[in-house]
Amino acid sequence: MTFKRLASMSISRTLLALSCSLLVANVALAVPVSSLPTSSMVPGGVAVLPTGIRATAASYRDERVLLAEFEGLQYAIVGIPLSASPGNHSLKLSDAQGRDLQMTFAVSDKQYVEQRLTITNQRQVNPNNDDMVRINRESAEMNNAFTSWDESLQPVFQMRPPTQGIRSSSFGLRRFFNDQARAPHSGMDIAAPEGTPIVAPAAGIIRATGNYFFNGNTIILDHGHGLISLYCHMNTIDVEVGARVEAGQQIGAVGQTGRVTGPHLHWSINLNNARVDPALFLAK
Ligand SMILES: [Zn+2]
Repeated sequence: MTFKRLASMSISRTLLALSCSLLVANVALAVPVSSLPTSSMVPGGVAVLPTGIRATAASYRDERVLLAEFEGLQYAIVGIPLSASPGNHSLKLSDAQGRDLQMTFAVSDKQYVEQRLTITNQRQVNPNNDDMVRINRESAEMNNAFTSWDESLQPVFQMRPPTQGIRSSSFGLRRFFNDQARAPHSGMDIAAPEGTPIVAPAAGIIRATGNYFFNGNTIILDHGHGLISLYCHMNTIDVEVGARVEAGQQIGAVGQTGRVTGPHLHWSINLNNARVDPALFLAK
């Protein structure tokens, strides 16, 4: 594939021979993928950017970015956090010669609507000091899993729904619990009866499991190269940390643990430590 592309770029055979070993090393850093995610350059979206070069590494907001090889071209697959401001954003690329290049891409504005929820357990809205100690510990644990970078796994961008249920377009909603503003909703809620099976939407390694203050029974599943998914409020967890799971394998069941108003699965997709809209990874 590399040879074919270089030939089409009219690079001489001599240069090709000289740079061959170097290029083989480069290509290994971009993971071959069977499809690309839907590009949506808004806060909470994904920018799918052709790099135009053979980059050896990419970063955005100091987080490592996934480089994918698709049909002979290299793409940076950049998760844009919900907190991103509209305007020009900068992606840093490095090449095999150790040079750094800046690539600019424009993020458009997106207005997410408000959602107001009533939570009867006051501590889940205004946690006490002991709760805060627990919340901070759990947040560090989850952040550690979200920043994992595993190159033994091959990420896929077309996933199956993790559970059968009512998929609401709830990603990005500006949330108010008992009229108090809280962080925006960073996942997709799928309403289903308690006990409905939850399956891995793509293959990966279980990076973390736990019973967390807000998220209840939770699994973090690593798909490789910074693509990581999160499952919350589960009734049961059927897998252990370190286990390899295949696409479609049951990992647990829907529940209503943690801060919820009813049984559902909260599903998040993380790319370069940004929570992005899971709908971009589901077949239309
Ligand atoms: Zn949710």
